[in-house]
Amino acid sequence: MGFLNGKRILITGISSKLSIAYGIAEAMHRQQAELAFTYQNNKLKNRVEEFAKNFDSKITLQCDVSQENNIKLLFLSLSEYWSKFDGLIHSIAFAPKNQLNGDYVNKVTYEGFKIAHKISSYSFVCMVKECRMMLNPNSSLITLSYLGSKRAIPNYNVMGPAKASLEANVRYIANIIGPEGIRVNAISAGPIRTLASSGIKNFRKMLAYCERVAPLRRTVTIEEIGNLAAFLCSNLSSGITGQIIYVDGGFNIATMNEL
Ligand code: NAD
Repeated sequence: MGFLNGKRILITGISSKLSIAYGIAEAMHRQQAELAFTYQNNKLKNRVEEFAKNFDSKITLQCDVSQENNIKLLFLSLSEYWSKFDGLIHSIAFAPKNQLNGDYVNKVTYEGFKIAHKISSYSFVCMVKECRMMLNPNSSLITLSYLGSKRAIPNYNVMGPAKASLEANVRYIANIIGPEGIRVNAISAGPIRTLASSGIKNFRKMLAYCERVAPLRRTVTIEEIGNLAAFLCSNLSSGITGQIIYVDGGFNIATMNEL
């Protein structure tokens, strides 16, 4: 029997088969979780409905997190299928493309900063706020982060502060919601080619750099992220909360791998 058998998990952020959330859905489906999905807008509706079929799911709900009432409505609609559930995957981030290249100090605008933080960080706590009453004990909430939260990385720019905010959010939510038996963690993924990452200037060079420097001498896959997410949503990880866990081939610990 799969180790997620009997768990109901809501997955956000699938927009293609390259999406990290798609790898998470595959891993969770393998472990027999029951899944539901959100899609950002009507352009993605049919695609996500087709993907959901691959995972034996009929639950696909629209939610654009830039509209706070969409988040409220999402959980109202979900409650028609599930009165309670066991896990949320927040795999959503956005910053305007003009913010993701060049000189951070010159490029950043208040509007860009606000959008990046609202979509990539605030939306996580807002979702938790709206679904808190629907979460079973032993539920697990997961978001996706990146090393740019802690290190200055070329072109990642305003997404760095947004991911730092997201990681602080993980700790604050974990501390408040822990007494309810609910765990909250972030997976900090190494760079992977997806629709979102292709908006970052010189992303290919970033991948090549990681292959040279990471202890494992390679980049990671959405399957590897998915496997950790499945573990973190299972009772196997019952003692883990408030953590930022790296799946990056060890890149975050490396400096001079050879001289
Ligand atoms: P992706 O483009 O496949 O997924 C990003 C998702 O965010 C899309 O499904 C998109 O619809 C959704 N989204 C954006 N704005 C939204 C909004 N207003 N409302 C609802 N949904 C919205 O890319 P991905 O790389 O799979 O990104 C998923 C997460 O992983 C993001 O948080 C990203 O920062 C993080 N991450 C990615 C990498 C990488 O290299 N790809 C590395 C570390 C962390």
